[in-house]
Amino acid sequence: MSTVKAAVLTAYEKPLELREYPALTEAGPGEALVRVEIAGICGTDVHLWLGQLSVPLPVILGHETVGRLEVLGEGLTHDWRGNPLSAGDRVAWASSIVCGECYYCRVKRQPTRCLSRKAYGISYCADTAPHLRGGYAQQIHLRAGTAIFRLPDDLPSDAVVGAGCALATAIHGIERCPVEWGDSVIVQGTGPVGLAAIAVAKQAGATRILAIGGPPHRLELARRFGADGTIDIAEVTGIEERRKLALAFTGGFGADVVIECVGYPDAVNEGIDLPRDGGKFLVLGQYANAGNISFNPHIITRKQLIVQGSWGFEPRHVDRGLRLLEIPHWQRLFADEITARFPLDQANEALETVKGWRAGKTVLIP
Ligand SMILES: [Zn+2]
Ligand SMILES: [Zn+2]
Repeated sequence: MSTVKAAVLTAYEKPLELREYPALTEAGPGEALVRVEIAGICGTDVHLWLGQLSVPLPVILGHETVGRLEVLGEGLTHDWRGNPLSAGDRVAWASSIVCGECYYCRVKRQPTRCLSRKAYGISYCADTAPHLRGGYAQQIHLRAGTAIFRLPDDLPSDAVVGAGCALATAIHGIERCPVEWGDSVIVQGTGPVGLAAIAVAKQAGATRILAIGGPPHRLELARRFGADGTIDIAEVTGIEERRKLALAFTGGFGADVVIECVGYPDAVNEGIDLPRDGGKFLVLGQYANAGNISFNPHIITRKQLIVQGSWGFEPRHVDRGLRLLEIPHWQRLFADEITARFPLDQANEALETVKGWRAGKTVLIP
């Protein structure tokens, strides 16, 4: 193949364009070429499409990808875990690369805040060679230093992309704001991050989980993921009414941990009222800057709340996500999250599907 197709974001709020780029055949030292098998569509892609996060246009979107190694550059012999790598291996990779040397990487050990962090499908302009740095394409070029993971044969690509970046995001968030064994947990939002948060909270030992979200097919998924109760925000429309139900669910005191996975600023106002006194509130869903809200900070002091933020994830969270997916129960649930598959030339329909909450997880098969 002398050219490869890619779905390219050329202008915000405009349909993606199907473009062709020269197929790559050589990789430099430490680099890799991967033939894309399946590319997940993340909620972040919709934010990027709508221009809610600024990126260097044109961009090939897609940061949740599984593919097969075609070419390994000199010196690339092992994956991030130390497993040998060779052409033909099925792989996934951490979507971002950090510098390892800046104030946040080295001194403060918060590499997700690296001053020159770059993410596939987000930070690379497609006009610049090697062009192919996003998953919505038939081929992707991985930079030296990418944390590549060889996938075990019995771990389906569907489970890995079904879990997507949401699982590693939830693992990082819950590492920063731990759920302890026996905790009651409220998860706001039943999108991919909300479902992943339910899975991670359950696996961490939460014994009672309430999911607040919708629509009904997402609440059904939440129950399958382990939510003991759900509240449909379209059915129970009053915030005060939802608060009463949530408090009743947690024995009248509120949850030990509340995890916001919604993305609308107002959800923070609702969520901050839901932890018990001395409880924790993890704000995980506010990826795009969706504006200001007003709230009463007296709640934080009076309730002695721990309010925690979390941004992205590191390779070690991807590693742990893949380990969680080796458990058949979670593997099946995350794989089954995929309910819509589109070819590359229908990338716009795929984005519309995610935007309209019409499917579980939506993927492209380039
Ligand atoms: Zn994502
Ligand atoms: Zn750095």
